Amino acid sequence: MKTPVRILIHGSSGRMGQALLRLSKQPDSGCVVVATVARRVALCVIDGVPQFAASELASVPDFDVAIDFSLPEGFDAILALCLARKRALVSGTTGLSPAQQAALAAASTQIALTWASNFSLGVAVLHDLVERAAVLLQGWDCDIVESHHTRKQDAPSGTALTLGSAAAQAGAQPHYASIRAGDIIGEHLVQFTAAGERIELVHRASNRDIFAHGALHVAQRVYAKPAGRYRVGELLG
Ligand code: NAD
Repeated sequence: MKTPVRILIHGSSGRMGQALLRLSKQPDSGCVVVATVARRVALCVIDGVPQFAASELASVPDFDVAIDFSLPEGFDAILALCLARKRALVSGTTGLSPAQQAALAAASTQIALTWASNFSLGVAVLHDLVERAAVLLQGWDCDIVESHHTRKQDAPSGTALTLGSAAAQAGAQPHYASIRAGDIIGEHLVQFTAAGERIELVHRASNRDIFAHGALHVAQRVYAKPAGRYRVGELLG
């Protein structure tokens, strides 16, 4: 049997952190969680897994790969820890600043990492479809409408910006609209419009486990790679 990949979950008390913890406990997950980190912790150990507060990050035990679904204010510390320990990083934290994105790019010369605004397979395919549509529909209006739950802090969503960047590289000039309502997990509509016709490409997430599954899958592949930045699409196979 393969040795399980040792995972550190950063942002463990959040919605994504909890999904990662639950899925990594499944017998066929191929992972073992060695520790978790949240902004604050109430208990030192839950179900045999040591819990650390963000202020105690330097004390976490050894791990193969850190999975980070936290907030931009927590990102610099987990990136620094992975660099110091020479360990891989998988991050889905959105709303990173240009300086944080630049730090990520610089870190990829030293460690293997994947940052993605969306870890679902469906969105990886949507990305390809948007690129193709933008190439073929030169001069059409391109609008991206994203909808999320009311607690989401960044807007437009990281996924909307990634899709928009794919469209822009193919010549489109995307415009964005954001809706924050109820408990919507995540919807992205990319619409190409010309006089008399319209194409709508849409992805709807109905369960956030798709992102956690994708992140665990990527973590198990990226940790053994040489230093570099890897896209989800390269590692999902
Ligand atoms: P959440 O608010 O439920 O959880 C945030 C977590 O981050 C909590 O555990 C909190 O304790 C922790 N945290 C906050 N500040 C911290 C700090 N300074 N240091 C360490 N930990 C800190 O959020 P969520 O819904 O779980 O989403 C987390 C992030 O993942 C967000 O940026 C969200 O946009 C993103 N997200 C990405 C994907 C994807 O596929 N890439 C999917 C869903 C959510």
